[in-house]
Formats: sequence, C-alpha cells, structure tokens
Amino acid sequence: MTVLPLLQPESPDGGDVALARGVREPNARARHKAALPPKHLADLDLAGRRAVAAEMGEKAFRANQISTHYFGRLVRDPGQMTDIPAADRDRLTAALMPSLLTPVRELDCDNGTTRKTLWRLHDGSLVESVLMGYPDRVTVCISSQAGCGMACPFCATGQAGLTRNLSTAEIVDQVVWFAGVAASGVLADCPPRLSRVVFMGMGEPLANYARVIEAVHRLTTPAPEGLGLSQRHITVSTVGLVPAIDRLIAEDLSVTLALSLHAPDDDLRDELVPVNQRWKVAEVLDAVWRYAAHTGRRVSIEYAMIKNVNDQPWRADLLGRLLSGRLAHVNLIPLNPTPGSRWDASPKPVEREFVRRLRAAGVPTTVRDTRGREIDGACGQLAAAEVDG
Ligand code: SF4
Repeated sequence: MTVLPLLQPESPDGGDVALARGVREPNARARHKAALPPKHLADLDLAGRRAVAAEMGEKAFRANQISTHYFGRLVRDPGQMTDIPAADRDRLTAALMPSLLTPVRELDCDNGTTRKTLWRLHDGSLVESVLMGYPDRVTVCISSQAGCGMACPFCATGQAGLTRNLSTAEIVDQVVWFAGVAASGVLADCPPRLSRVVFMGMGEPLANYARVIEAVHRLTTPAPEGLGLSQRHITVSTVGLVPAIDRLIAEDLSVTLALSLHAPDDDLRDELVPVNQRWKVAEVLDAVWRYAAHTGRRVSIEYAMIKNVNDQPWRADLLGRLLSGRLAHVNLIPLNPTPGSRWDASPKPVEREFVRRLRAAGVPTTVRDTRGREIDGACGQLAAAEVDG
C-alpha cells in the first residue's frame, strides 16, 4: 500500500491536501490525463473576463454581456445573445464559454423530479451530478473531483481512485446547467429557481480546496459575476481533512459544513474512512466545532447506516455522547449498496433504534430520503456502470 507524504501541494492531478495510509495515490492513467480543460468565464472573475475580451480586441463590456447570458439568463446558445453583434458572438463564446460538460447519460425518477446526469469531460473523465426537486426547493448535488482518492471501501467512487481535480468552471457549470433545467419548468410542482447546492457527489471537496472555494464565490456572487445563490444554501462536505477545515474557517464564509463521520470510534473509522488514520475522530470533531463556533452554523454529521458494521446500539450511544450539546445535526444515510459489494443497508428497525437513541441523547437526527435509488443514486455508481459496460 502506498504511503503518501502529508500536505502535498494542490495540483490538477489531485496531489492535494493531506492524505493518509490507505488513501489512494492518483493512478498512473490519471497522472497522464491531469490536464485541466480550457479556461471558461466561470474560472475568472469579471475583471478577468473583461481582460480576455480586451485581449481579443473586443470591447470589455462584451464580457459583462456574455456573463449576464451565462449566469443571469442561463443562456448558452450564441443565437440567443442578440445584444451582441452576430459576428462577435461565436468568437466570444468560443473564448469564454468552451463546452466543458457533455451529457453521456441522463436518467430520471420520482416523476421526473430527480434527474441524474453522467458527464464526460474534455479528457474523457466521467463525473456525475443529481438534481432533486422538492415542493419548496430545488437542490443539486455536484462533483468536485473526477473519482476520489479517499478510498472509503463502501463507496463506488472510492473503488476507482482519483483521476483528477475538476476546474472551478467544471464545478460551477454543473450547477448552472441544472439551474437552466429547473428554469425550463420541467420539474413538476417544484420552484423554477435552483436554490441549493451540496458538494456531495464524486470526490472530496476539501482535497480540491482552491477550486472549490473559487466555485463557492462564483456561485454566490450576484450576476453577472456569478449565480447569486445564498452561501447558507451551499453545503460543503468533507471526510475530515483538519488543516483544510481550518483554512475554511479562515475564509469567513457561511456555507454549511457536513462531516462524513460514518463511525464514532477510531477502530472502525480507520477502516471505513481511511483518512481517519491521519486525523482521529476527536481531532476531526474538534475542527468542526471550531467551524460551528466561528460561523454559528450547525454542522451536519453524515452517517451511512451499514448493516452489522456501524449500526449497533452502543455506537448510537457513543455518537450521542460525542455530539450531545453541540451545534450539530445527524443525517443518517441508508446505504445504497454498490453492486457485488459486501456492504449492505441496515434494516429499518435497526435504523429506527439508532435514531431513537440519538434523539434520546438530545441530538437532532433525520434520515436522508433515498431519492434516486433506482437510477444508481449513490455517488459514483453511474460512472462505475458506464466504465463496466
Ligand atoms: S465516500 Fe466520498 S470521500 Fe469517501 S471515497 Fe466516496 S466520494 Fe470519496
């Protein structure tokens, strides 16, 4: 097993925030395929886009116009950008809006209100995003990396290893694309405005730190610079990269932090979330409490319920003791088993008893709905199916 040096510098191939024993190095194929895509306006702030337009010999305000189309009107088709002279539209869109995501498969369920898309990126990498419409909100779950190096053994994405980090624009474009889908009115009985983003698709967001933070800025700055979502409606998840959590605190953002805990004890968490071999449960929880204290925001503790692995009553009690009195909420996730895997979901009575014990300890607890199960809703499953055949 490869032991990687800690605190590697960030790079497109995913050499990034601290990795631990058991956490995979980008595979050899990844090292040869680490090139990021062409620059897109979502990689740049407005001043950067204006500079690109000026370098092309265009008037700088054309960058504002094209940005308004992309972020404000969710328009990608140059033919609809009628405020820009026809002769300039193609040049400007080629320079500032190169195509980043090609849909390979699109699946839907729940009467069309859950939509999952598998994208092919410019280098052939595959990533996924899922749109979920509810009566009061529309949420998109996005990927931050192609694959993932964190090697959680129960996760389809973790089995394939890391290919590369996504660029800022590849992250943002997943959201803008689905904002356009929501605005088209195809989600029955849902609002037309996408309002929430969760970084819970493929990858460990804090292992692609700089681009994820840049994407958060782009998603939350008002148009034409960005999409104008509320920071409070963005959730960044992590397996617990402690130095990166401290960096996030220093950003002074008000995004929601979600910690994928999955076990309250180090013996089991070392196995389920291998990065725990580097940062133990107590250390990770201390870091998220620092985040909660700084932001005043409740931390979401994610816990996949895995049959006979982490679902024992004593683990519920231990988790309850760790979280009692803290600014935290537990989100239990019924495991969506990877085909052929030895991991299975906990039976419902076991899940109910786990919830009961946590609530008895005074810990707010909910069970995540199982949207998208029939379309391989768990992260990485659609990509795995595509690769397998
Ligand atoms: S569960 Fe999340 S962090 Fe772990 S391997 Fe899967 S995508 Fe990566």
